[in-house]
Amino acid sequence: MVSSVLKTTPAVYFDCNATTPVLPIAAQAALSAMEKLYGNPSSTHITGLQAKYLLETTRRKASKLLCCQSDEIIFTSGATEAIQMAVFSALYEAAKNIREGKQISARKIVYAATEHKAVPMALQYWKNVLGLDFEIVPLSVNSVGQVDLVELERLAPEIHLLCTMAVNNETGTIQDLARIDQIFRKHRPDGLWLVDCVQAFGKIPLHFQEMSVDYACFSGHKLYGPKGVGFLFARVSSPFHPLIVGGGQERGLRSGTENLPGVAALGALMDELIEGNHKLFHDHSTLEKMRQSLIDALKESFPRVVFNTSFEISVPTTINFSVPGVSSKEMVEVFDAARIRVSAGSACSSAKAQRSYVLDAMGLDTWRSESAIRLSIGPATTHEEIERGIKCIQAASSALQASCLLPRSSEFHPPESLRDGLIQLRFAGSNTWILAKSDTRETVIIDPVPELSERITKYVECQGARILAILDTHSHADHDSCRPLLQTLLERHMIEPQEERDELGWPVRSKSFVTLADGNKVPCILFSKTAENQQVLARVATPGHTSDSISFLFGNPNAQGNLIPTEIRFAFLGDTILSGGLGRTNFKSSSESALFHTLKQLDKQLPSHAVICPAHDYDNSFALVWDSEKKDNPLLAMALDLVVNHESEFVQQKKKIDLQLSEREKQFQGIVCGVVNLQRNACQVTIPAGELPAFLSKLGSDTIVVDVREPSEFDICDDWENLGFDIPPRNVPLSRFVNFMAEMAQNPSRPRALVFLCLSGSRSLYAAKTMRRNGFENSWNVEGGVAYGCLSPST
Ligand code: PLP
Repeated sequence: MVSSVLKTTPAVYFDCNATTPVLPIAAQAALSAMEKLYGNPSSTHITGLQAKYLLETTRRKASKLLCCQSDEIIFTSGATEAIQMAVFSALYEAAKNIREGKQISARKIVYAATEHKAVPMALQYWKNVLGLDFEIVPLSVNSVGQVDLVELERLAPEIHLLCTMAVNNETGTIQDLARIDQIFRKHRPDGLWLVDCVQAFGKIPLHFQEMSVDYACFSGHKLYGPKGVGFLFARVSSPFHPLIVGGGQERGLRSGTENLPGVAALGALMDELIEGNHKLFHDHSTLEKMRQSLIDALKESFPRVVFNTSFEISVPTTINFSVPGVSSKEMVEVFDAARIRVSAGSACSSAKAQRSYVLDAMGLDTWRSESAIRLSIGPATTHEEIERGIKCIQAASSALQASCLLPRSSEFHPPESLRDGLIQLRFAGSNTWILAKSDTRETVIIDPVPELSERITKYVECQGARILAILDTHSHADHDSCRPLLQTLLERHMIEPQEERDELGWPVRSKSFVTLADGNKVPCILFSKTAENQQVLARVATPGHTSDSISFLFGNPNAQGNLIPTEIRFAFLGDTILSGGLGRTNFKSSSESALFHTLKQLDKQLPSHAVICPAHDYDNSFALVWDSEKKDNPLLAMALDLVVNHESEFVQQKKKIDLQLSEREKQFQGIVCGVVNLQRNACQVTIPAGELPAFLSKLGSDTIVVDVREPSEFDICDDWENLGFDIPPRNVPLSRFVNFMAEMAQNPSRPRALVFLCLSGSRSLYAAKTMRRNGFENSWNVEGGVAYGCLSPST
């Protein structure tokens, strides 16, 4: 149902603070400048003079809009360049004065902590280049993102250059420029002041006659103009030193032939602003109503939504919000699949979520910063787009509920059966494993990481899971297990809540046992006590990384109660074996020698196809196939050598490798549980965009095409025909990728090739590399994924 709503819905673009589409009037003006007014404004013949006329009329329009003189407008390639010009001018002036022996008392460069990165980066860069001994100081903002005026007053007497923005790009917060002006000028009438007006232009009035701003920057592509054009306002009375010299264009202030088509487009848009007849741009109150409709839709679709924008003091075009328990990355991906383009308020990497420095500066909770989403419309967004956007928001919410990423509404009943198999949840290089049996809902949780507790709880509640055990493979050094917390939170889901358990969560009095290939009879947890398809999780002692390390082997026992190797599917080895490395052995309770014997023992118990599920995934390896790992992990191979006993060499080598830990920990910024081989992923596996059809016909019919996006993204996508697929590819989300690895590793008749795709080609790249490393040489990743159109990039 979700997808049928969307099937007919074109994508909605709500990321206007990043950039905007070029409006037809602007495109037309640019085209006409390219075709007809193509002269060089510096030429003195008629064609050149006509081009100059266009340039100067646009300059006059800008000066009219901003209430300034037209020779205070300098055209640039955009706001970043304008920022450099202003910063360079202000700092060069100081450097010149110092060189000339003038006394300088104001030696601080102050910028608001929520400025666009272009500002602090430019400050640092030009200060260094000019060798200025000034202090760069970030100015605090309050919880709604406005600069702390008390702190400004305190700093003001020493400020040489002050940088503030008119409107923030992440939150839409409007600064009180009039108050800043008053306070700054009271103490520093000669100080210099740069205002970033990029997100304010066309949205709030800007009058440079009424404000003492020295420099202000503007960008065309944030207001329906093309990329690569913008301008700087530089007050005639303020110091100016050119950054780019050459042909003397722009009165020698910025050399280089002007981008006339871009300037022409800007001019056309300025006409709209000057006329103020709201033909293309809505007035403030209409935009406010549009914003309210979106806010209402967000509240209805995500009842726990929290808004990070203070609507009373922000432009009506930006909504920054966070939904508890859903990271920015997940939300952007689901919104993308639901055909609504928004951006993460924070940048994300697969290992650690990076927070929004803007929301951090506002002092908001970490989770809000890690889950922040910026939805931004523009003054020309249509009512129809708002209506479509609302439908897409609802679809995204349904998709998140369906995949247990959002709590379900009260009338929710758990599904008939839960999805079978193993789920891998990852946080900052740590793995939590959830092993579930679909028909009985029996579930075991292994190595739960605290940061994932909300996610785990949501999964269990949403799936109506029945928990057999929550286990740890050892006492972790890098995090506290959240097992005790989960046991309390999920008590009503525990099958035997009163059962006495040891410090790793294993039942103190084991009732069931199973015999392994090496003849060892070990305790086990039984799935489906009565059903035919019985499965067991056997516990084996695997000391080495720590003395209390244990591992769990999962598979189907035979009628005699033996877990023979061929029937073992997954092995949860904690930190015993990591991707291309072994768990560290330099803790007090570690022993290299014990690890050596543990590895030998495991080799007797495990089949070649077993999938090793470690407690850490530092290099996006997901999991390891035993046979491939033995070939690719030199220290493991040394331990398993059947001909020569390498114990003392192994111990020595292991000690040496662990010396690299402190370097790794510096890079990772946290405790690392073992040195892994980070170079293993460096192979070329990508099919160039648009070349998939040729590749597929070369690869042959038994190629499996797999979409590795999460079900919340995959289920909502109904574009396969447009993307060139007769039938949709198979969906194997990365959180369940280990099941696919196990299926492939156990499959005697291997497919000829595996082709992976996702939204942008980054997740599928990990999938392809993982399969290659684990023996599937013919594994491929589709460049640009669904975003590039998969089969035909033109779609
Ligand atoms: N300042 C702000 C507030 C912005 O949002 C941006 C663009 O993201 C810039 C500066 C840089 O603008 P440009 O892309 O024109 O260099």
